[in-house]
Amino acid sequence: MAINNNKRTFIKALLSMPLIGGGLYFGLKFSRPKIVVVGGGCAGLEFIESIIDKIDVDITLIEEKPAYHSCFMSNAALVEMKEHPKIKFDYQTFIKRAGIRFIQDKALSIDSNTKRIICASGEYVEYDYLITAPGIGFIYDNVEGVSENNTLSYPHGWKGEQSFLALKDKLQQLPDGQPFIIIAPDKIYKCPPGPYERAGLVADYLRHHKPNSYVLILDSKSSFTKQDAFVEGWKKHYQFGTQNSLIKYLSKEAGGQVTRIKGNKVFAKAGTFESECINFIPRQRAGDFALNNGLTNASGWCPINFDTMASTLLPNTYVLGDAAIAGDMPKSAFSAANQARICANAVVAEITKTTLKPSVYHNVCYSLIAPNYGISISAAYKRDYDDPWIRLIPEQTGITPLQSEPWIYRAESRQALDTFNRIIASKFNK
Ligand SMILES: Cc1cc2nc3c(=O)[nH]c(=O)nc-3n(C[C@H](O)[C@H](O)[C@H](O)COP(=O)(O)OP(=O)(O)OC[C@H]3O[C@@H](n4cnc5c(N)ncnc54)[C@H](O)[C@@H]3O)c2cc1C
Repeated sequence: MAINNNKRTFIKALLSMPLIGGGLYFGLKFSRPKIVVVGGGCAGLEFIESIIDKIDVDITLIEEKPAYHSCFMSNAALVEMKEHPKIKFDYQTFIKRAGIRFIQDKALSIDSNTKRIICASGEYVEYDYLITAPGIGFIYDNVEGVSENNTLSYPHGWKGEQSFLALKDKLQQLPDGQPFIIIAPDKIYKCPPGPYERAGLVADYLRHHKPNSYVLILDSKSSFTKQDAFVEGWKKHYQFGTQNSLIKYLSKEAGGQVTRIKGNKVFAKAGTFESECINFIPRQRAGDFALNNGLTNASGWCPINFDTMASTLLPNTYVLGDAAIAGDMPKSAFSAANQARICANAVVAEITKTTLKPSVYHNVCYSLIAPNYGISISAAYKRDYDDPWIRLIPEQTGITPLQSEPWIYRAESRQALDTFNRIIASKFNK
């Protein structure tokens, strides 16, 4: 367990109070509103940064890992793209700078009557407002032969460091001539363009390291986001659509849906494919913490009030980021940060009993196709009071135009990095 706080008085009190098994974390009561944040990902950290700028509150972050392993930019890190950014960050700098309390523990359950979070260690933390941002979990029910027990044999590389490293190792060990197989999930999942970004960057890696290999995408869907822009990029860089293409794509209609995996063999409607590197990205739902604590509905995701991000199922509890049902907004770091800022405003309005101003909802998703070549989709969303949904505004949605000037694609790739630095890396700067 790691604890940090920059307030001298608190440290003094803390030092005089050792932890007692099964007791209250720190054994202290606070007069300021107590906010507990579960999950130190993009959403949780952005919420903290945003609210500490606005109001004096007592914040505790509960995060099970000692360091944040970012999925954003992980495809570039997977192939060790030249100048790819660092994607793993220790929490200590953030905690010191924000002046919050950090508990490295797994949050297990919510007692909404006593307003306590009980952790795996047996300790508990009291809250007035509970902010939950636990990210995603996986569903292994539609492909025979894969389960939670053998996930590292077919690593998703979609959450956490362990799976990322397993996938990287399999890519590096791939015998030249075998395909790198990506099995892309059906909606709804985090980072809709992620599998296709990965395809391009892995194809670039194979060209340099395994010239007889290629990427094979087996898709459970009929189409995917930014498809025309991806296909244009794949044609330019990887001869997509020709016999020599470094990327082959089978949609659901073309037989890409996978039914079984056994050993090195993948059984799809279109046939059987073989590789020592099978990147199986499972179907998804909200993270275990949300699922086990009554925050999800039948969809497996968490229903929320779109104006405040408050759970519609549990009082004094908010859900941010990938775990939440945020209308038409995709599950991205950009959306998660946007929702976190909306939620911080809502919590401040609730504490200060002031009127909450209407929110602005927006998202931009960048994807790299090759080094120095990126594309993006940007969108604004609206929230009408007679419409129970956050709705995409089609006329305010834009994708990198096809046949743009080369500098546009270079600029998009730089923007991707800038956005990563702004939303993620900068949180961990001194
Ligand atoms: C390959 C890939 C590429 C991506 N690229 C982009 C991109 O280019 N742009 C973009 O905007 N987004 C991108 N994303 C999506 C982005 O990473 C997620 O949408 C974002 O991380 C969501 O933030 P979050 O805070 O909801 O969840 P996360 O960032 O996943 O954070 C959840 C945190 O909660 C912690 N946690 C979970 N349960 C508990 C518990 N019980 N107790 C304590 N802690 C717990 C976890 O350890 C984790 O730190 C990408 C995703 C992938 C997979």
